[in-house]
Amino acid sequence: MSESVKPQSGKAFSVAILGAGAGGLAMAISLQKAGIPFTIYEKAASVGGTWRDNRYPGCACDVQSHLYSFSFEPNPEWTRMFAPQPEIRAYLEHCTDKYALRPHIRLNQNVTQARWDEDARLWRVRTEAGDTYAGRILVSGMGLIPKEYYEAGEGFGANGWQRFWRITLPLLRPSLQSALILRTLAAFEVFAVVTALGGTTLPVLMGETFNWQFAMQDRNVASAYALVILGISIAATLFFLRVLRVPKGATI
Ligand SMILES: Cc1cc2nc3c(=O)[nH]c(=O)nc-3n(C[C@H](O)[C@H](O)[C@H](O)COP(=O)(O)OP(=O)(O)OC[C@H]3O[C@@H](n4cnc5c(N)ncnc54)[C@H](O)[C@@H]3O)c2cc1C
Repeated sequence: MSESVKPQSGKAFSVAILGAGAGGLAMAISLQKAGIPFTIYEKAASVGGTWRDNRYPGCACDVQSHLYSFSFEPNPEWTRMFAPQPEIRAYLEHCTDKYALRPHIRLNQNVTQARWDEDARLWRVRTEAGDTYAGRILVSGMGLIPKEYYEAGEGFGANGWQRFWRITLPLLRPSLQSALILRTLAAFEVFAVVTALGGTTLPVLMGETFNWQFAMQDRNVASAYALVILGISIAATLFFLRVLRVPKGATI
């Protein structure tokens, strides 16, 4: 166990930055300029984040490079209006060196937990290797990709239900909305086709519910049918949520 920073009560504070992508590096440079101590914890073996990980042919930014670079570090060397990935990665490495960030970066430190210690008034950051570090302020620069949101939630101690409610569901909401609308339309179509082809003699769950409710006037049986339909719908929904989840260890 190692404790990188031991702030003296209220007199000094340090910042723990999670992630050495463009966001984490920009935060570090600002803190450097302000004279505030900081440490970056990065799970990979080098800096660059998105621009380290994405190397597919043609990978480039889609905002003009003079805008997609730090305002305090303009780069006259961009070779294209939309610079390719190797150039952006090299630019971030250059910034890391120029602003002397390397001594403050801990590479290969996969942060798995960040917990606020109320008594010490410190964030306790725990890595996969079991090391713990402390910082008065915690800044998450872990990226904006859904998978990273999920990891960030896990790191900040959100339980399974909180991660589902606060991360998975909002991300899935647009897809769920479209899927539910399409599913409803399809159900009506299927029901109409089945009724048209089979008349009223072919038992269909929806048709039986309708039948018991209105023709037979037996609400109990109709409710039982409705509950079966609800159960099937929930089972199907859970199945799709599980199938569509972001797999653990997935890469971009
Ligand atoms: C092909 C492509 C083109 C893009 N073009 C543009 C563009 O033109 N304009 C634009 O605004 N954006 C663009 N983006 C979005 C781009 O991701 C962001 O602009 C920016 O690079 C994100 O930086 P970041 O520091 O927030 O996150 P990232 O670059 O994702 O960095 C996050 C860092 O956190 C680290 N990390 C994650 N989890 C942990 C953990 N548990 N412990 C320790 N470290 C961790 C990661 O290893 C990574 O190094 C593009 C993205 C791609 C993929």
